[in-house]
Amino acid sequence: MRQLELKQTYTVVSVSCSHCEQEQLVHVQAGTGTWSTAHQSVECVRCGQHFAVMLPDAIIGGSFLPPRVSAPQ
Ligand SMILES: [Zn+2]
Repeated sequence: MRQLELKQTYTVVSVSCSHCEQEQLVHVQAGTGTWSTAHQSVECVRCGQHFAVMLPDAIIGGSFLPPRVSAPQ
C-alpha cells in the first residue's frame, strides 16, 4: 500500500482584509526560497472580495477565520 504524500509544510500568516478589515489566516508554503515577495490575491472569508497581500512565500491555503475570533454574523 502506497502512502500518500500528505505532509505539507506551511506557515500560518495573519492578514487583514483591505475592504472590511476582517482578520484572517492564510497558509503559505514554508521555506521554499523560490518565491520572491509579491502581491498575492486572497479572497476574504467575510465579505468575499479579493484583496492583495504581500508575502514572501506562495499562499497554498486559506483564508480561514482565526480560531479566537467568532464568525461574523
Ligand atoms: Zn473583507
